[in-house]
Amino acid sequence: MLNCDLHCHSTASDGLLPADAVVRRAAANGVDMLALTDHDDVAGLSLARATADECGIAFVNGVEISIEWTGLQIHIVGLAFDPASTALNDGLASIRAGRIERARRMGAALEKAGIPDAFEGAMRFAGNPSLISRAHFARHLVDSGVCKDVRSVFESYLVPGRPGYVDHRWASLADALAWVHAAGGIAVVAHPGRYKLSAREMRRFLAEFHDLGGQAIEVMSGSHTVDHVGTFGRLAREFGFLASRGSDFHGPGESYVDLGKLAPLPDGLRPVWDAF
Ligand code: AMP
Ligand code: MN
Ligand code: MN
Ligand code: MN
Repeated sequence: MLNCDLHCHSTASDGLLPADAVVRRAAANGVDMLALTDHDDVAGLSLARATADECGIAFVNGVEISIEWTGLQIHIVGLAFDPASTALNDGLASIRAGRIERARRMGAALEKAGIPDAFEGAMRFAGNPSLISRAHFARHLVDSGVCKDVRSVFESYLVPGRPGYVDHRWASLADALAWVHAAGGIAVVAHPGRYKLSAREMRRFLAEFHDLGGQAIEVMSGSHTVDHVGTFGRLAREFGFLASRGSDFHGPGESYVDLGKLAPLPDGLRPVWDAF
């Protein structure tokens, strides 16, 4: 089976490596086909594609879109679209526009919790300031000695109910799918095992995604357990979704799964790359 990794990040969003270094690392790890899927931005794609051509691996345009569904933050990956699409670029710009303001509110909330200057600190970690994310706050709080690692920053400060978390309105599910489809791409539910949804709510979410023309879900993901793989393999079959595989690599030392190192898709699923 081809070694396809269809979810990872560069410094165009909250990854630690520039897009060309991400592609070179993927090629060195034996990846045959890579999609770069930065959050809410397509700025890394042209460098990534040029580097993939140099390395002789296949490249797929990707993006990971932040949406809000019934109050939860969910991620939709778009694959194999035209990055010049006006509808897609305007939509992504509209999501990015809210990020700096949200980051200022996070800084103010952390200040109240006794951590001053977190906004400025996080900004120093953001390669692309318009993509300032919770991951940059986490790196700053580790660097400044507030927490021992990124995971504990999230647990203590950056998830709902914690002092540095602020609500934010992202795109809707319908918006995100409309943008991906307008650009000729395929929409994929990112790491479905990560969302705090009951089995019943997950089915309702997947049914809505399906009705809006969503075609695939990540079955193999860097954040999935063996149980998740079983559950989402079954749901993919039940809903007739294509199955995707993506490490969600953000950088060496920070991500548990390196580029191209996930197990293959389970048998009996239709890989999303058959549709490219
Ligand atoms: P944002 O888009 O600003 O809400 O930030 C979300 C990003 O934070 C994700 O894309 C991950 O890179 C990172 N992230 C979210 N939850 C966690 C977690 N529990 N541990 C480590 N990183 C996380
Ligand atoms: Mn991220
Ligand atoms: Mn994600
Ligand atoms: Mn991701």
